Amino acid sequence: MAHRILILGGTGDARILAARLAHRPDLELIVSLAGRTENPAPQPVPVRSGGFGGVEGLRAYLETGAVALVIDATHPYAAAMSIHAVEACQAAGVPLLALRRPPWSPVPGDLWQEVANVAEAVAALGATPRRAFLALGRNEVRAFEAAPQHHYVVRSVDPIVPPLAVPHADYLLARGPFTQADDRALLAAHGIEMIVAKNSGGAATYGKIAAARELGITVILLRRPQLPDVAAVDGPEAAATWVDGLFPVSPATAPHGADRGE
Ligand code: NAP
Repeated sequence: MAHRILILGGTGDARILAARLAHRPDLELIVSLAGRTENPAPQPVPVRSGGFGGVEGLRAYLETGAVALVIDATHPYAAAMSIHAVEACQAAGVPLLALRRPPWSPVPGDLWQEVANVAEAVAALGATPRRAFLALGRNEVRAFEAAPQHHYVVRSVDPIVPPLAVPHADYLLARGPFTQADDRALLAAHGIEMIVAKNSGGAATYGKIAAARELGITVILLRRPQLPDVAAVDGPEAAATWVDGLFPVSPATAPHGADRGE
């Protein structure tokens, strides 16, 4: 019987991990999405969507579905889901691995200001009108209505509906990855003076950080939430290797050609 693995997703890393393991016939993979994005990126394995109903709901899902392993590959700011995963896995006796993408660290030339939350980010823009680039989720940008003096450029995967109740805002619909060159051109074209972003880590959204350094733009970074201390790896390849160790590929289940070094 195949080992059923639940990958808590919503990130590119979850998608890459699923693709890396999808060829194994002895694994049954399911990617779980929060269901917030209207047009989520396609996944290489079956998907379930929407909340589980808290810790109890997830525990029941794991037990009913005979899940053999959970991999928490959620976004580093999706702390509630990560905490629920720990508690539900403990209750159901299911092993848990977290895929924790390391945060970006400042390098010489970076002008970073770290803040604890979105309200602090709004305050950090200051009283003087600025042109600010918001690289945040659509729920988070709403807080910037409290500072209507600024001109906002908002980049999001889904449309900001209704638009922000501010006099000056431009909206860009886009899904990463974004290159440094494209982001530099975008920041320059919009005359951006400040960026507000999360410290997501990884390469896909680092372009704006590197471009800000080039252009001398201040980046207001939301500090990462505290995440539970669990067995963790730092990327999809390491996670796949960890799974290979837990559920070794046997000659009987190896995909065609795998035992001949192809
Ligand atoms: P959250 O605060 O950790 O989760 C809130 C609830 O959403 C969870 O309790 C769970 O509901 C449900 N949920 C979250 N991820 C799920 C998943 N992979 N599968 C099934 N249900 C899931 O996360 P959030 O509200 O989505 O986002 C928090 C921060 O992370 C925001 O800054 C957001 O922009 C960022 N972020 C999240 C995602 C994502 O895919 N979630 C992607 C990119 C960025 P139940 O309690 O009902 O199970």
